[in-house]
Amino acid sequence: MSSPKTERFAPSPTGFLHLGHAYSALTAFEAAKGGRFLLRMEDIDTIRSRPIYEDAIFEDLAWLGIAWDVPVIRQSERLSLYQAAVDRLTAKGLTYRCTCTRADIKAALSAPQEGAPLHGPDGLVYPGTCRNARHDDPDAAIRLNMAAAIRSLGGDTIVDLLEIEELGNGDDGQSGRIALSARHLRDGIGDVVLARRDIGTSYHVAVVVDDAAQGVTHVTRGQDLFPATPLHRLLQALLDLPVPVWRHHGLIRDDAGKRLAKRDDARAIRQLRADGWTPARVRSAINL
Ligand code: GLU
Repeated sequence: MSSPKTERFAPSPTGFLHLGHAYSALTAFEAAKGGRFLLRMEDIDTIRSRPIYEDAIFEDLAWLGIAWDVPVIRQSERLSLYQAAVDRLTAKGLTYRCTCTRADIKAALSAPQEGAPLHGPDGLVYPGTCRNARHDDPDAAIRLNMAAAIRSLGGDTIVDLLEIEELGNGDDGQSGRIALSARHLRDGIGDVVLARRDIGTSYHVAVVVDDAAQGVTHVTRGQDLFPATPLHRLLQALLDLPVPVWRHHGLIRDDAGKRLAKRDDARAIRQLRADGWTPARVRSAINL
């Protein structure tokens, strides 16, 4: 039996929701009609996440007319599940410990022979400094050994057959069935951090583990996360997780064309509410 259509909105409670979040949440909520709509608190960043922002998310979404299934899961309460997923990859020999700081990575990449540093979904693509270092420091970060991961799935030709089904558009307009590229995974994404030193996990691991655990069939989110999607697809293959379809949408921009950020309080739903906006006015401001 196929699972019921399940959409989710997965905000990080690190600021007030703005018009861009309203767009994402309303799009996913409407797409979920006839199925399930989940709200998930992505609060693994315990330094920046705050209960006041979480409360505001509940209030603002309810004000927009959105209803979600309960219970709402919080990622901060599920760290052991994420750790278990990383442990499985480690048991397959696909990870290594890394003690590099950001400054170490920048310094390694500024060496003349390296050429222009590439940016992946998490910033600079890691140059592999610790790949063969065999650190045993328990507080080190844990990275995916991307080349080993690709080999474990059968090599480039097999990985190139894996696909992402995109119902929306990627940041370069990509849509439909999009094949992964082992070469891009190695060179353009690289050995990403799976478990950060400070929180013991990463967004990428938490999101694939939770989407699978919650039976999410459709992932609606902003195009800024499209570049991370091949990595998510690869992690699903490595961890034998079910594969959802994705719908990436354009980002809401301010009048100057700049993408909205959590610090743009002027576009915060809460501020617009205080200024007398109605949910209908929010919808029309974002063309919904
Ligand atoms: N927590 C992420 C954010 O607030 C969204 C993650 C996702 O939808 O996959 O940007």
